[in-house]
Amino acid sequence: MRNEVLSYDVIVIGGGLAGLMTSLGVTGSQKLALFSKVHPLRSHSLAAQGGLNAALGNVPGSADDSWEKHTFDTIKGSDYLADQDAVEIMCRMGPEVVYELEHWGVPFSRTPECKIAQRPFGGADYPRTCYATDRTGHVLLHTLYEQSCRKNVEVFSEWLVTSLVIEDNQVQGIIALHYESGEVRAFSARVVVFATGGYGRVYGNSTNALINTGSGIAVAYRAGVPIKDLEFVQFHPTTLYGTNILITEGARGEGGILVNNKGERFMKRYAEKLMELAPRDIVSRSMTTEILEGFGFENAYLHLDLRHLGREKIMERLPGICDIAIDFAGVDPVKEPIPVQPGQHYSMGGIDTNEKGETKIRGLYAAGECACVSVHGANRLGGNSLLETVVFGKIVSTHLREFLKSQGDTRDASFLDKALEKEKQRIEELLKRKGERRYTEIRDELRRVMFADVGIFRKEEELRRACEVVQRLKRDYRDVSVRHKSRYFNFELINVLELEGMLDLADIISRGALARRESRGSHFRTDYPKRDDPNWLRHTLATFTPNGPEFDYKEVKITRYAPQERKY
Ligand SMILES: Cc1cc2nc3c(=O)[nH]c(=O)nc-3n(C[C@H](O)[C@H](O)[C@H](O)COP(=O)(O)OP(=O)(O)OC[C@H]3O[C@@H](n4cnc5c(N)ncnc54)[C@H](O)[C@@H]3O)c2cc1C
Repeated sequence: MRNEVLSYDVIVIGGGLAGLMTSLGVTGSQKLALFSKVHPLRSHSLAAQGGLNAALGNVPGSADDSWEKHTFDTIKGSDYLADQDAVEIMCRMGPEVVYELEHWGVPFSRTPECKIAQRPFGGADYPRTCYATDRTGHVLLHTLYEQSCRKNVEVFSEWLVTSLVIEDNQVQGIIALHYESGEVRAFSARVVVFATGGYGRVYGNSTNALINTGSGIAVAYRAGVPIKDLEFVQFHPTTLYGTNILITEGARGEGGILVNNKGERFMKRYAEKLMELAPRDIVSRSMTTEILEGFGFENAYLHLDLRHLGREKIMERLPGICDIAIDFAGVDPVKEPIPVQPGQHYSMGGIDTNEKGETKIRGLYAAGECACVSVHGANRLGGNSLLETVVFGKIVSTHLREFLKSQGDTRDASFLDKALEKEKQRIEELLKRKGERRYTEIRDELRRVMFADVGIFRKEEELRRACEVVQRLKRDYRDVSVRHKSRYFNFELINVLELEGMLDLADIISRGALARRESRGSHFRTDYPKRDDPNWLRHTLATFTPNGPEFDYKEVKITRYAPQERKY
């Protein structure tokens, strides 16, 4: 049993919303396994607070909302880098998928008429974010996980997928390391779906779970799969000062305001119409500018004031935010403003897929935050990511079923055997290394430099410096040893394995940002402050070579919306 290769029709990597949604769409006759490096209910999806967007038109002021208006807001929010065909599909399917979730048992907050409640979110012309107080991810993930139990989805929990095996442009399977036993095994599959989440923790000051290292994207990259638009990294305006725990955009959606040390509601100077509810890239830059110009508190943070909403509304709509502010900052939002600062939040880039979630490898798909479809382009609108996970999880399951029906089984077990031997050897060599460096030193320096030099404001000199530091850290990595030699729950080994991937992704992000000489969405170059459509209305593609990423570019799909200047 130990060395036997287990064989599946479909392997889904990731137990968050995208992975569970994909698994639920795979029919009973197909043999499915879901891999997750943590128990599925520990996936970062659980932490989502504010809600998911769908043009339901359920609340006052949104009666004439439509999926077309949602599409336009998303494309404008993306600074015109999103692929418009994919955005249309996502926004059109939004209402149908939200009702499906409701029927599966998601306890959404309700309007007085008992319809699904909706709140305003950034960059949207209508209140269209469906929510369950400020714990939307929690209820969505629990509901989908319950459904997956009902369907008897086979889950390999606490297995880290370390490599993807591709031969002749066709998926063969994966190799994974079991935390508990330290065993390294191969699993054969005709279809592999990556639903491995984002790469937030390549950065310091992140709202993301510690597990969001981007390891799935890095595994796909090492296997030769092109990675798209990695330089587009979202910084969320309101993270709790000091810990960077997220304070949902829903707090501003419910009426919270941002104030500087002069007591001024400064957003009126940056986004006259939408103010605090301008898209995140704009609010984060405005806040950073205020702090740099001396209008922050302690030169580090601003105030998010909810007091005027009153205790009842705060407790009804934002109970989780109250708990976070009290527990982690000692601040009761009913009585005092919350100290906030921008922090890393979301990965717009990822594994390059088309609007069906297909990659250029036969049998390989990606969905959710690890994928770049691209529906978010250069800047994601709040509430669109949860929507993306469920919509594209569903779409991928439909297309992979067709793939399985129409294609014969062309796997050859010998490729997997060879790859397994190679992977075992790689891990053995890591364990035998005698180098002086600790992985924590390299990881911490990487996070500092990425936040400081490839952050909210970027410029040539700093980007060059970041590229050099990343190269140095990649060299230093060869000198990292694993001091703890046990096979059982060896988290040092796991962290060292993941750090290699984080360095790869940082390399792509920093070089991609240096090359892109324009400002678009989250990528703001102080030395090239304007968007440059003639030269840069295109996606960045990075492919692995032993000497670092090789870059190429790909056109953006424009359907109905010609690029315009973004005004809010
Ligand atoms: C604090 C916070 C609040 C948010 N709030 C909102 C919101 O209100 N609205 C919204 O639209 N978006 C929100 N987002 C974004 C949104 O939650 C995420 O983009 C989305 O949930 C990602 O889902 P996913 O299924 O793609 O990945 P995740 O939920 O991150 O799951 C990834 C899965 O992959 C597994 N995995 C990863 N690598 C490996 C590997 N190598 N081997 C095995 N398993 C692996 C993990 O174990 C995990 O199960 C928020 C994000 C954060 C951080």
